[in-house]
Amino acid sequence: MSVIHIEGLAKSFGDNLVFQNINVDIEKGDCISVIGPSGCGKSTFLRCINMLEPPSAGRVFIDGQEITAKGAPLDQIRRRMGMVYQTFNLFSHKTVLENVMMAPMHLQGLSKSDAFELAMTCLTQVGMAERADYMPSQLSGGQKQRAAIARCIAMKPEIVLFDEPTSALDPTMVDEVLAVIRRLVNRGMTCIIVTHEMNFARTISSRVIYMDERGIYEMGPPSQIFDAPRRERTKAFINRLKTFQQTITERDFDIYGLNSAVVEFCRRQFASEKQIYRVQLVLEELLINILLPQMRQEPIAIDLTVEYSMKDSTLSVFAAANQDFSLEPQGEDSLPFDMLQAVCTDIVREENGVRLFL
Ligand code: ADP
Ligand code: MG
Repeated sequence: MSVIHIEGLAKSFGDNLVFQNINVDIEKGDCISVIGPSGCGKSTFLRCINMLEPPSAGRVFIDGQEITAKGAPLDQIRRRMGMVYQTFNLFSHKTVLENVMMAPMHLQGLSKSDAFELAMTCLTQVGMAERADYMPSQLSGGQKQRAAIARCIAMKPEIVLFDEPTSALDPTMVDEVLAVIRRLVNRGMTCIIVTHEMNFARTISSRVIYMDERGIYEMGPPSQIFDAPRRERTKAFINRLKTFQQTITERDFDIYGLNSAVVEFCRRQFASEKQIYRVQLVLEELLINILLPQMRQEPIAIDLTVEYSMKDSTLSVFAAANQDFSLEPQGEDSLPFDMLQAVCTDIVREENGVRLFL
């Protein structure tokens, strides 16, 4: 018997049909990643599984028990499922420990000392035991999300639903949260994860669901979805190479304006926060501290292209100039060059230009 059995699931909001005819069986220990363009219904799909959103049609069974049935014991079935949100949802006036102890005490009737033991075990699992007495406001985003995961697993769920658990995080904190999720999955937790972290989805999932055109458009193992997608839109989503282009002709061009346009472009492509952080660093060093100081005569022209490849989730920056430039330090200050070396995985000289891989 499947842990989650979904048949004929459909959801509309008024006239807006979000998805229909979703049929999936999820087995114990499966990790299913759900990917797809924004607005395609990924969050709504998760919310229908635990009946936070009543489906318009179809049935969902958790361990054989139909959660969508009239009069189903929702609270009881929902307790088998934890949910982790983009925005943590911790109680701000309670410590981390209290946040984790609360549900086991109030919903499962654990004594205070048992709840304490359990909470500390869960906090240890996510590397947060030392911060048990902190208030949420004293934590970084990554720590808040790890505390939220501890709170979720303290209820001993059989299934955890993650809705873009790293999308609200600063770039430096994505990895620590992904590592915690990876450990849960490796220990056999059944998970459904909506994510834009394609490399993570590729390495962690037993199956990937690509949602588009009002339903599951393609489903398969990561090797199929990421390396050999069978259908057009999956191919387009996975393989799309998107480019952002701008030509810089003024020495005092607006670097902040450029950076925010590039950030917006990268977010649309679902580049990781780490990549987005790095691309800004690279643009600033490359343009302001390396290229412009080497431009001797007017007019100047620097053609800038930022490329994102969905296939392997790589980001690259290509810069070509109308004048020669060097990527070796010109004077005392080698810092900008060191920064590029540190941030880029590869730097390739091309005719009158340079390509930097992030
Ligand atoms: P995703 O998570 O893939 O970005 P969502 O599931 O959030 O997509 O949304 C899918 C569609 O459903 C969107 O068109 C969105 O506007 C609509 N939608 C989501 N929640 C509601 C709601 N509570 N009321 C009305 N429309 C909604
Ligand atoms: Mg969503």
